[in-house]
Amino acid sequence: MIERRIAIHSYSLLVSLFLAGLCFGFSLAIALIGLFGAEYGTRQYLALAILIVLLLVFAALSALFLHLRIEDGRKKAFIVAKFGAVEDVYSEKDIASIAKKMVKGDQNEKVLCVAFSIAGPGGQALSSLQNDVAKKTLRFVLKSLRVGFPLNPIGITSDNEFLLLHRSQNEDAFIDGLRVFLIHLSDTFAHSGSLPFASLLGGVSSRSAVKPLAGRSLVEEAEFALRHSASRRLSCDVLRFSQSLVDEDASIHWLDADLNNAIERGEFVVYYQGKVNLNDMNFYGAEALVRWKHPHRGILPPSVFVPYCESSGRIVEIDHFVFQTVCASLARWKSDPAMKNLIVSVNLSRRTVYDPELLSFLEQTVAQYGVDPNKIELELTESLAAENLIFISSVIKKIKALGFHTSIDDFGIGYSSLSALKSIPYDVLKIDKSFIDDIEIEPKAQAMVASIVELVHTLGMEVIAEGVESAKQAEILRHLHCDAIQGYYFSRPVDRGRFEVNIAEASKERKRA
Ligand code: C2E
Ligand code: CA
Ligand code: CA
Repeated sequence: MIERRIAIHSYSLLVSLFLAGLCFGFSLAIALIGLFGAEYGTRQYLALAILIVLLLVFAALSALFLHLRIEDGRKKAFIVAKFGAVEDVYSEKDIASIAKKMVKGDQNEKVLCVAFSIAGPGGQALSSLQNDVAKKTLRFVLKSLRVGFPLNPIGITSDNEFLLLHRSQNEDAFIDGLRVFLIHLSDTFAHSGSLPFASLLGGVSSRSAVKPLAGRSLVEEAEFALRHSASRRLSCDVLRFSQSLVDEDASIHWLDADLNNAIERGEFVVYYQGKVNLNDMNFYGAEALVRWKHPHRGILPPSVFVPYCESSGRIVEIDHFVFQTVCASLARWKSDPAMKNLIVSVNLSRRTVYDPELLSFLEQTVAQYGVDPNKIELELTESLAAENLIFISSVIKKIKALGFHTSIDDFGIGYSSLSALKSIPYDVLKIDKSFIDDIEIEPKAQAMVASIVELVHTLGMEVIAEGVESAKQAEILRHLHCDAIQGYYFSRPVDRGRFEVNIAEASKERKRA
């Protein structure tokens, strides 16, 4: 139906354009005759010219009108193809112009544009699915957006990304709400057998009438942030547009070139940060943290390259390299009484966890180095569990069946539900540094840590606090019955040689005491 209307409008547009061209030719001819050859009847020529110019204006206006109708028809056809029905879903262009009007409209409130995309469990795109499943998924997301945000303009782009406009005085609260909404939606995907998509990402940008200027449009900024959120470790999350994202984008060029064969050239090294047991105040293990010894830029922390490596997939080889290096260290420490009982934890990125070869890689590597898997703990971030409870739960069970310990990393910032804690059989929970930062001054932070410790113990797991920087924090955590701590207060991450010296000194100290 829409296609037929587009065809009729296109035909009429051609006729109008032809008419307009004809009128233009005539009016030009008459004007020339009037100018150079009008010996008689000038008035008649003038009247004719006015008539033809009027016709020309009419033909041009009809052409413009028909062009707009065709554009509108195309937009509708595009949306119908996606959803099977035209609800009030706007195109990207419409959303951009609505956003502009909204920004001009109110001086007190900010206008936020959110761009959402949907990714499969392994990060695959919607387009890789069968058409009807993709359509069903899109319709489901649209329906959920309509229910969640009944009054907001909603759009869809040609890349299957959704756009949402919102006016708000409290940007932070709105973004927090959005995160909860994304997690809820992805939970629904995970629990429905027929909708395969697991991870929803968002990019957000805001403008106010007071500060409306910027190089990119509001929609472009939100889409830019969305592309970056896909490259970040956290999923089911909303990333805000900022200048630092733009700078990060610029750094991708040198990263990509310099990362080629960097592992083979021996530029990656593994640092170890000791973990201390709060019952006896002894080092019982360490976390392995990767560093890049760049030939020109010095020692680079993971924040410089890990997000990019996650988006490009290189993180899998980095995680494998760290795991192999840790196995080599554990093999070396086997005969050292001070080192042989240490448990070392290794971070596994999202990509590594979804890699179908993960379990065989872990099993073969420990066998190759002759290392007991019981000496290794694998850290998975909380956001992974938040994104796909069923899958993560099954991976953790398989990892544990091989003999490894497991932990939930960065707990408290990844919005996982309590049901994730209950259903995934982790051994250790790592409370994120952000909770520990305020523990000395903020009674609420202390109360939260106390409740987390109690809950985790009830579930039969152990608790370690990350980012402990002072004796006072360590003392409070001991008082709250936290099992262990990790942080600058006891040790910064150091290279293997320095770590071995630190452990040897601590061991001597213990014997002396
Ligand atoms: P993470 O897993 O949460 O690691 C802890 C981070 O906190 C480390 O940063 C550590 O140096 C830092 N830290 C520890 N104690 C303190 C403290 O008391 N104060 C402060 N301010 N910071 C402290 P790092 O080494 O820069 O690593 C950052 C993140 O990069 C890690 O966060 C982890 O998510 C990622 N990462 C590091 N190594 C690897 C790796 O081999 N594979 C993967 N996939 N990710 C890695
Ligand atoms: Ca970690
Ligand atoms: Ca952490």
